[in-house]
Amino acid sequence: MQEFGSFELPSRYLELQAEARALVVSVTLEPDMRRALRDSGLATVTVSREYGGRFESVDSLAVTVVREVLAGVSGHLDSLFAMQGIGSFAVTAAGGEAVRKRWLPAVASLDAIAALALTEPDVGSDLKSITTTLTPDGDDLVVNGHKSFITNAGDADFYTVLCREGEGYSLVLVPADAPGLSVTRPHQIIAPHVLGDVVFDGVRVPLGHRVGEPGQGFSLVLATLATFRVSVAGAAVGVAQAALDEAVRHTTSREQFGMPLARLGPVPSLLALSWTEIEMARSLTYRAAAAAARDPRANLHLSSMAKVGATEVAGRVVDRAVQVMGRFGLLCGSLIERLYREARPMRIYEGSTEAILDSLARQLIKRGEP
Ligand SMILES: Cc1cc2nc3c(=O)[nH]c(=O)nc-3n(C[C@H](O)[C@H](O)[C@H](O)COP(=O)(O)OP(=O)(O)OC[C@H]3O[C@@H](n4cnc5c(N)ncnc54)[C@H](O)[C@@H]3O)c2cc1C
Repeated sequence: MQEFGSFELPSRYLELQAEARALVVSVTLEPDMRRALRDSGLATVTVSREYGGRFESVDSLAVTVVREVLAGVSGHLDSLFAMQGIGSFAVTAAGGEAVRKRWLPAVASLDAIAALALTEPDVGSDLKSITTTLTPDGDDLVVNGHKSFITNAGDADFYTVLCREGEGYSLVLVPADAPGLSVTRPHQIIAPHVLGDVVFDGVRVPLGHRVGEPGQGFSLVLATLATFRVSVAGAAVGVAQAALDEAVRHTTSREQFGMPLARLGPVPSLLALSWTEIEMARSLTYRAAAAAARDPRANLHLSSMAKVGATEVAGRVVDRAVQVMGRFGLLCGSLIERLYREARPMRIYEGSTEAILDSLARQLIKRGEP
């Protein structure tokens, strides 16, 4: 049912879309998703050309288009792809040359898995309250702290870690095999995400592992969000589309009262409402992603709106799909169960709906003030 996606994308994005579709077909034959993603060459989209990437710079629209296709088929594949960019973007933007050369080509080829470590056991949205510290000591930087709910923890080859440094905040790249770094997996969530906690106990890395200048940590996290937040919207559109396709498939093939469910009572209107909402979300998502590809920081408000809009739509569309499928929408192990579980966390990670709306509201009010 991909003809639903009628937005006119420039040819290089259409080519990427086709490559992503080929990949999702290939993962049904190759269960090792890391290998399948590596063989597809799509991870090159997450790094700039200078370091083995596909395009001149990391392109929000390219990442978004790929995520839309991958997320409809596998949340794990989508996360594996997206985290290569999210975990490495600060290094692309501001890492030292030796660190870039060591890690970025390996990210593009999937020889190294990336992770971004911001959240702590007691700190989520309020990132300025983090307690992990970075302390220069001779030729080294020393990291102490505990990061929690980190995607790829345990699988990652390096962590880009937000720390407190003196009065400010800094980022540092910590290789996964650094002595003093340990990983546990204390939490499982309702969706099959690779998540874990990472403890840094006096971990030492060379001074060159600092990413950006001392005190630049938040601005690099913001740059990462500005480039990648909109891609969550792409993933949400993919999930919503897959749920609608499944609901249409089921309700056109199952009959009750002598007619297909899709023609019964409010069912057709519910399906049409989902279609409408998906197209609205997709339009805003592509527009915001194209704007972010031109200037991520100046268009963060659009990316944020797309993230909120598309993830909320995905929640509604998946819920409606369950409803019109009746008991078949509740089956464990079904496609719709997977989509239901995957849509839910999207409204919380990379900025919860409410935290983003709070920030948008403050910008809006500021614009209106005399
Ligand atoms: C699947 C998944 C993957 C993740 N991966 C990573 C990762 O790779 N790296 C990483 O660092 N973290 C990761 N996280 C953590 C994620 O970033 C946090 O869950 C997120 O920042 C929200 O923090 P919290 O869960 O502690 O919620 P809290 O900060 O406790 O907020 C709870 C709720 O309070 C409300 N709220 C919070 N702030 C505001 C506000 N300013 N205005 C209005 N309402 C507000 C919202 O409703 C919010 O949902 C991941 C989380 C999930 C679920």
